[in-house]
Amino acid sequence: MFDKVVIANRGEIALRVLRACRDLGIKTVAVHSSADRDLKHVRLADESVCIGPPSPTESYLNIPAVIAAAEVVDAVAIHPGYGFLSENADFAERVEQSGFVFIGPRPETMRLMGDKLSAIKAMQEAGVPCVPGSGKPLGDDIGENAALARAIGYPVIIKAAGGGGGRGMRVVHSEAGLRNAIGLTKREAAVAFQNDAVYLEKFLERPRHVEFQVLADAHGNCIHLGERDCSMQRRHQKIIEEAPAPGIDEATRQRMGALCVEACKRIGYRGAGTFEFLYENGEFYFIEMNTRIQVEHPVTEEITGIDLVKQQLRVAAGEPLDIRQEDIKILGHAVECRINAEDAYTFRPSPGRIGVYHPAGGPGVRIDSHIYDGYVVPPYYDSLIGKLICHAENREAALTRMQNALTELVIEGIETNIPLHIDLVSDAAFRAGGTDIHFLERRLGLA
Ligand code: ADP
Repeated sequence: MFDKVVIANRGEIALRVLRACRDLGIKTVAVHSSADRDLKHVRLADESVCIGPPSPTESYLNIPAVIAAAEVVDAVAIHPGYGFLSENADFAERVEQSGFVFIGPRPETMRLMGDKLSAIKAMQEAGVPCVPGSGKPLGDDIGENAALARAIGYPVIIKAAGGGGGRGMRVVHSEAGLRNAIGLTKREAAVAFQNDAVYLEKFLERPRHVEFQVLADAHGNCIHLGERDCSMQRRHQKIIEEAPAPGIDEATRQRMGALCVEACKRIGYRGAGTFEFLYENGEFYFIEMNTRIQVEHPVTEEITGIDLVKQQLRVAAGEPLDIRQEDIKILGHAVECRINAEDAYTFRPSPGRIGVYHPAGGPGVRIDSHIYDGYVVPPYYDSLIGKLICHAENREAALTRMQNALTELVIEGIETNIPLHIDLVSDAAFRAGGTDIHFLERRLGLA
């Protein structure tokens, strides 16, 4: 096992990785921005290195700074968490060229799956069902683009091939808006992702977001850990996730899981990964693969009893998977609410000092969070300040447990989305199960 790992991230996921390292007896190094000296994992890490000013481009996205820090502390491997450099194939390559282990897939695989168009192509070849779409970047010929859109049928969605984080997407309802929407998305994509390739896809009107977790080692072994439903979204970003997905039977789970495992074997996948699908009228449509640990990984951990971050560390260290597919048993139901420092209904970020913090607790209640009394949420980063995860014997019990835990959880001094979560987990339609990805926006009158 590794002697020392650099945690190239911040917030709750940095703490999560630190905890997994400690369980495995690995020394940890926190690399952080000057705004993050007081982060909990920075205090707990064996060593810490300040790699730059608050701006992410100068710190958490600063590849030379991260690698220099790893060199200074004599680390062996780098865990990128999620976001920041986690899906940056150039970073993974530089890490390996500098003699460190990148805790994730091979850079070639990241490149293949990081471009949504090449990912779709690879998945089509592997027999994974995809959303009907252009399958190639859109050119400048508006006549040709209009013909493509007409063939797919409106509404269509224009998506950036290099997009991520719910950005770089635009829905078009008729031909009148097509040219403008393509132009805007292209320009945005060029700035945000340094890649102006955009493509067309059928916009599914009432799908759910259902994704499969996979885990592969470097020796050709791969398993799936079932699915999660992440349909509760605002602005294409997930806020509540659960596992298993309501209404997915065991035969479907095994069939789709096996498809994902086969696809992983074909592309030589290594590490933890997620196949994201839209699910409508009983059909799955692949949209993208995330080649990293995901925010919502704890719900899968709760129902399978498998620590995904420890598994990431083990397979990155070259160990063969010690879990077989038949060992994976789903026990009960788990739900996660993302707690954000933001106004519950306008989503306006609310950084600042946390005056009072009382976590929730009790059986089946887990909180993955870096906050504490007096912690100051900086304005420079994502608004996620913690995840509340509840596990119980079935969905109904897990949601009731969540409702109770949300009312027990107190965070004062800043605005949080706890009131929205309380609303949602008691909503009759959500309780019934199977609400689609536009449910929240419809409910808030935004769609
Ligand atoms: P990102 O990489 O930014 O997360 P995804 O391709 O995973 O982008 O899409 C994020 C979300 O956008 C999905 O969960 C879904 O809500 C919405 N979305 C993406 N593609 C479609 C589509 N073809 N039809 C309807 N909604 C879509």
